[in-house]
Amino acid sequence: MSKECDIVKDLSVNYVDNNLRDNSKTFIEEHLEKCTECRKYVEEMTIDLQKDNSFKEKDEDINILKKINKKIKSKKILIIILSVLLGLIVLYSSLVFINYYIMSQNPNMEVFLEENISIDDKEKIEYKIKNTKDIEYNFVSKEDALNKLKENFGENERFLNGFNNQNNPLPESYVITGSPESIEDLEISFGKMEGIKKVQCNLYQNPYTLFNIKLITNFTKIKNNLF
Ligand SMILES: [Zn+2]
Repeated sequence: MSKECDIVKDLSVNYVDNNLRDNSKTFIEEHLEKCTECRKYVEEMTIDLQKDNSFKEKDEDINILKKINKKIKSKKILIIILSVLLGLIVLYSSLVFINYYIMSQNPNMEVFLEENISIDDKEKIEYKIKNTKDIEYNFVSKEDALNKLKENFGENERFLNGFNNQNNPLPESYVITGSPESIEDLEISFGKMEGIKKVQCNLYQNPYTLFNIKLITNFTKIKNNLF
């Protein structure tokens, strides 16, 4: 092996990579023309380098594919999460508005009287209602209440056959409709009065707020029954 051969071999990597100055390049090419051994050496090196580069490219391709797959996957997960959320929102809103519709069909306020209310207390309640502005009211006697219940039962009225005026379990009540301010006023007053069993008040406020209050109340009731 000549000294020239050693120089050519040392420079061959840079020659194959095309990183040599013109003079060095010409020197190598002139040598390769006359030296079979170096020619073989440079050819093999060229093939090896090409293989190496194509592997690198393949690796890069695989990495790009992996990245794209990852992106598609996370997009799919995001779409699933958003769909579930949207579904829950639609379900919640439906429940709220069904509930609100049912409530708006009912009177603003119902005041149920105690079974053994004194005449004095009853008069005080009636006086308070009569002297409240912007409302309309109806007195519902025990008999009225039973008849209305039978009406609501329709064909199944026979289930209530055992009840008559002597054992009627339903309370007397006032059904009141009117302006929210007056209804609120009455609710506060009734809170301080004797002889009232229960006040049921449906003011037409934000349906979501009403629904949430109802939800929490029912949840608390269930919790209290369980523990
Ligand atoms: Zn040579």
